[in-house]
Amino acid sequence: MSLTVVQYGHPALRQKGARVERVTPEIRDFIAELLATMRDAHGIGLAAQQVGRAIQVAVVDVRGIKDRPSQLWCEGEPADVAGFMPLVLINPLVTPAGPSAGGTEGCLSFPEIFGEIYRPDPVDVETLDEDGQTLKFRAGGLLGRAIQHEVDHLNGILFIDRMSRVTRDELRADLEGLQAATKSALAAEAKAARAPSGG
Ligand code: ZN
Repeated sequence: MSLTVVQYGHPALRQKGARVERVTPEIRDFIAELLATMRDAHGIGLAAQQVGRAIQVAVVDVRGIKDRPSQLWCEGEPADVAGFMPLVLINPLVTPAGPSAGGTEGCLSFPEIFGEIYRPDPVDVETLDEDGQTLKFRAGGLLGRAIQHEVDHLNGILFIDRMSRVTRDELRADLEGLQAATKSALAAEAKAARAPSGG
């Protein structure tokens, strides 16, 4: 089943995710839905907050992008990126392992909005997988960037928070328009929910 991706202005995007204490069957079902939703939306990552749920679960799959390389190291050795996808992140922690690098980012919660973002490249990642096992690896290039973007979501941080002031100013009208549209849609939904159902 595919879930609805919420857009900028939805309060869930600003919520810090609760830690997942145990990977239950319900959490596994949710992960399957998150993966299906990411694929349907042609995204390379999706966090729980983006479907309105503030928990520390996100998914990443960079296989659809051919023109931006990714790097992966497991136990210090280069590893196959495609074979590692899709990647499930539960309670992930990211530590910088290289200098800051710029790259263009978008977000499924910000349709048609893109900006240059600087992030460390590569990063060391420690996370639980969908079996509740601890996974440690180093990720660079697009993969490292996508993971950091999703880990930010899990902490209520959005990519616009990491844009330069100049970029954000250029996008200001688009961002304010998107936020206003989301808020008025939410208000209309709340009003509809309060209205008597009539029969
Ligand atoms: Zn995003």
